[in-house]
Amino acid sequence: EGGAEGDHVAFYSQDMNQGMQERMRIETGLRHALSNGELLLHYQPKFEIASGRIIGAEALVRWRHPQRGLVPPAEFIPLAEATGLVVQVGEWVLEQACAQAQRWQQAGLAPVRLAVNVSAREFTASLPGRVQTTLQRYGLAPEWLELEITESTLMNNIERVIGIMDQIAALGVTLSLDDFGTGYSSLSYLKRFPIDTLKIDRSFTIGIPDDANDCAIANTIISIAQQLKHKVIAEGVETAEQLEFLRQSGCDEVQGYLFSRPLEADAFELAMCKNLAA
Ligand code: C2E
Ligand code: CA
Ligand code: CA
Ligand code: CA
Repeated sequence: EGGAEGDHVAFYSQDMNQGMQERMRIETGLRHALSNGELLLHYQPKFEIASGRIIGAEALVRWRHPQRGLVPPAEFIPLAEATGLVVQVGEWVLEQACAQAQRWQQAGLAPVRLAVNVSAREFTASLPGRVQTTLQRYGLAPEWLELEITESTLMNNIERVIGIMDQIAALGVTLSLDDFGTGYSSLSYLKRFPIDTLKIDRSFTIGIPDDANDCAIANTIISIAQQLKHKVIAEGVETAEQLEFLRQSGCDEVQGYLFSRPLEADAFELAMCKNLAA
C-alpha cells in the first residue's frame, strides 16, 4: 500500500517536472523567437455591415517555429502571460502593427484602423507613453490605432485601469472591449470605460441563429452598445444566417471566416485593393 502511494507521488512529480520542462522549453524558444524574428502578424479584416466594406483589421500574432511550423497564439500567449514575456511580445506586436500601417498608408492604400490585442500584464502606467512614442515614430495618426482589451484586464484594479484607459483615449487611440460577456464586469462600470466598441465573443456568435440563449445574449450586447453610444462588432461570423441575424439586430460590424480568415500582410493589401474596386 505504502509502495503504491510512493509510486503515485513519484509519478505525479515526474508529471509536474515534464510540465515545467515544457514551459521552460517554450519560454526559451519564445525569447529566441523575439530576438530572431520568428514572430509575425496576420491581419483579419473587419467589415461594416451596412456598406460591406473593410473598415479595419485585427493584428493577430503567429510564431513561425523552425521545427513546428506556424504556431497559433493559443499555444504560446497564455504561457507568455504567465511568465510576463507577453510584455515584450506586446511591444513587438505594437511596433510591427504601426510599421505595417505606415507602409500601407505610404503605398497609398486607403487607411483602415488597425487593432492590436493588449493583455492584462501590458496594461501598466507605461503603456500610454509607449503607444504615443510608437505612433510618433511611424508618423501614424492615433485614429488609425485601436487597442482590444479583454474584460478580465479591466477587472484587476479597476480605478487604475480606468486611469490608463483615459490616458490612451486622450491620445485619440480607440479602445474596444474584447470577448465581451465572457468576463465578470459589472454593468455599472461599463459606462465609465472610455471605450468605442463592444466586441461580441465568438462563443455567442457560434450559437446564432439556433441557440435562443446566444441570440438573446447577442441582442442584449447590441442593445447595451446602442444605449451607451458604442459601436458593436461580432467576431467569429462564419455563416450567412449569422450575418443576417446580426444585421437585423443592428450590429455595426462583423469579422469572421465568412468574409476572411486572418491574412498575411500581402494578402490583406490585395483584399484592400479589391475592397476599393468593389
Ligand atoms: P481573440 O482576440 O478573440 O481573436 C479572435 C480569434 O478568433 C483569432 O484566433 C481569429 O483567428 C479567430 N477567428 C476569427 N474569425 C473566426 C471564425 O470565423 N471562426 C473561428 N473558428 N475563429 C475565428 P487566433 O489568431 O488564433 O488568436 C487567438 C487568441 O490569441 C486571440 O483571441 C487573442 O486572445 C490572442 N492573441 C492573438 N494575437 C495576440 C497578440 O498580438 N497579443 C495578445 N496579447 N494576444 C493575442
Ligand atoms: Ca481580439
Ligand atoms: Ca475576441
Ligand atoms: Ca474571442
